[in-house]
Amino acid sequence: MTKKRIYLSSPTMHGREQEFVNEAFTTNWVAPLGPHVDAFERELVAYTHAGYGAALSAGTAAIHLALRLSGVKEGDVVFVSSLTFSASCNPIVYEKATPVFIDSEKDTWNMCPKALRKAYEKYPNPKAVILVHLYGTPAKLDEIMEICREHQTVLIEDAAESLGSTYKGRHTGTFGRFGIYSFNGNKIITTSGGGMLVSDDEEEIKKARFLATQARDPARHYQHSQIGFNYRMSNILAGIGRGQLLALEEHKQRKQEIYQTYQEAFAKIPEITMNPMNQEGEANCWLSCITIQEGCRVTPSMVMDALEKENAESRPIWKPMHLQPVFAEYDLITAGEEIVSEDIFQRGLCLPSDIKNTSEDMELIIQTVTSLFG
Ligand SMILES: *Cc1c(COP(=O)(O)O)cnc(C)c1O
Repeated sequence: MTKKRIYLSSPTMHGREQEFVNEAFTTNWVAPLGPHVDAFERELVAYTHAGYGAALSAGTAAIHLALRLSGVKEGDVVFVSSLTFSASCNPIVYEKATPVFIDSEKDTWNMCPKALRKAYEKYPNPKAVILVHLYGTPAKLDEIMEICREHQTVLIEDAAESLGSTYKGRHTGTFGRFGIYSFNGNKIITTSGGGMLVSDDEEEIKKARFLATQARDPARHYQHSQIGFNYRMSNILAGIGRGQLLALEEHKQRKQEIYQTYQEAFAKIPEITMNPMNQEGEANCWLSCITIQEGCRVTPSMVMDALEKENAESRPIWKPMHLQPVFAEYDLITAGEEIVSEDIFQRGLCLPSDIKNTSEDMELIIQTVTSLFG
């Protein structure tokens, strides 16, 4: 008999999603745009207090538009976290701008403020900083924002993994000039695929909606003075999003419980450390991760293999962008000698963090990992 699959992070639907989708069918709003899109934007912004939002086809599209709206052009430098998923920096290259990767700090695994400050010595005029809140843990926002303010650089928060996380009581994604969220299939809530660009500035969000619908000028005839994109979210998917948003707090609570369960279980194993929290904030705990002490005979690969034998899905830590063949030509700035992001990548892995995991599933995962260290 094949064992039940235990997932890393899979979609969890509750029923309201289907009702909103049915409503779209009944009213024949099977189109990009529509009442669910407007409502989803309003409801997400009401939840995060983000100001204004534009629902888009992907988080990647939201980053792309944020760069456009920040005036990033060919040859411009953009600072971006190295320890992230490639979607954080691909749009920099779409615009023929130059990513400069910034290393992580150990406290939160996010962009290191010391390295960011150092980056300005070599590249004094970046057009934007893209800051990722990795695995849901808020970055050191006070320090990063202070540096961006001093240098008058636009801050774009990639909160794709951190919807629902807060820093000093305020939602991640609402600190920068722009914030982006993702509703890809494995994120904390999903529309199967989708994203949102948010900003306090209503004009910027209006411009984003314009660019996302092929930049059509306000004329009756089809007239275009700029190149646009087809980046809007469909009314069907926004219906799913509205249903999911109603369950976001519940998803967050379950993710936090999963993290705590692992944390308590692995407190007994000195070689294992959980991914860090930020004491000045609250993480949504999108993925629970561990690192294994240097020199330990158990490697992340051994843990992943052992879990796979139990049909449980785990995953390496994101391979840092400065190590990717496609980004090999770009620079990495570190605070000191050590490359922190590489160390986390080499010693870490993401554990199954699916909110549908039962206590038996959790027990099996914990047993499997623990037995390797016996
Ligand atoms: C998922 C993700 C994105 C991209 O979102 P899509 O909606 O898949 O385009 C961007 N950045 C990070 C850090 C992500 O994890």
